[in-house]
Amino acid sequence: MNSYISYFRPEIDNMTGYTPGEQPKGTPVIKLNTNESPYPPAPGVQKALASFQYERLRLYPDPLALEVRAEIAAMTGFSVNNIIAGNGSDDILTIATRCFSDARRPMACFEPTYSLYPTLAGLQGAPCIRIQLSEDFEIPEDPLRQARNANLFIIARPNAPTGNLFPREKMEEICAKFNGIVLIDEAYADFSRDNCLDFVRKYPNVIISRTFSKSRSLAGLRFGFAVAHEKIIDGMMKMKDSYNVPMLTQKLALASLWDRGYFDTCVAKVKTTREALTLALRDLGFRVIHSDTNFVFAAPPIDAKNYFLDLKRRNILVRYFPAARTCGFVRITIGTPEEMTELLKVTKELIGKN
Ligand SMILES: *Cc1c(COP(=O)(O)O)cnc(C)c1O
Repeated sequence: MNSYISYFRPEIDNMTGYTPGEQPKGTPVIKLNTNESPYPPAPGVQKALASFQYERLRLYPDPLALEVRAEIAAMTGFSVNNIIAGNGSDDILTIATRCFSDARRPMACFEPTYSLYPTLAGLQGAPCIRIQLSEDFEIPEDPLRQARNANLFIIARPNAPTGNLFPREKMEEICAKFNGIVLIDEAYADFSRDNCLDFVRKYPNVIISRTFSKSRSLAGLRFGFAVAHEKIIDGMMKMKDSYNVPMLTQKLALASLWDRGYFDTCVAKVKTTREALTLALRDLGFRVIHSDTNFVFAAPPIDAKNYFLDLKRRNILVRYFPAARTCGFVRITIGTPEEMTELLKVTKELIGKN
């Protein structure tokens, strides 16, 4: 081979890229590492899939995803012009980063949070201002002072991987005073006590993003959306790929929205299981952060990395984040009650409590 000279922009060469959670092939494992739902998608999704005419795949999808946006508009009480559809909500985050960040317009986000945000800033050649959360993962004093030079502030609420819900009043204060876009990533809002969707009516600088990957059991489908002022949506529509949401994704996302009862049942089951798991882990001496999501962030009474590796040897996959702030914890996705029973059984063996 000839010697290789890089043609990449230096910021691409100098970054590592995002590391997604493992998607194991082969041997069955209890998979609690990427916050997917343990339940299948709504029965209506299966029906829509079965009735899909495969010849239609010859055609491009609706570039505006109008049907599914209209349904989301009806469901949320906004207009179609306030909604943009994405190829998963990661697509929404990418579009927003490209719209609002560059070398002279930094992004701001908390630490720890979803590690995709700084990666997206890096890809865009934008500085990322990391604002440390407090010891118990709450918003620190005066985050706006630290974020003052940013043009885009991305906040996951509930936060990931910590699972806690920042106070609504603090969120509102940030939205009202920040001199730039506040993107509130509500990937887990369906599992939480409240959400910030109503801020869109009050603040023209707020974008709310949501996903079908967690609460709607459709991570493989890739569908997410954002709600914002129509001027913001107009601009983001210019930036998106023309056909960013596949035809099948549009159709099945719509079918999922129609099955309201099934959705409510699945979310309720996950919340019940979450409360039971939190209590059981605390009984075993774990520090468990109060969760408003479909996972718990928990510090085991033994070394967290060894606990993670031992679970893996026993075919239970959870997520471990080696960074300084998170290395004492594991993140455990809420599975079925049966999966949680198995997790607790193995955990008792590992910490020597049986
Ligand atoms: C899972 C997740 C997303 C992205 O989900 P998509 O599958 O891309 O819709 C976005 N933000 C956070 C905080 C998440 O945990």
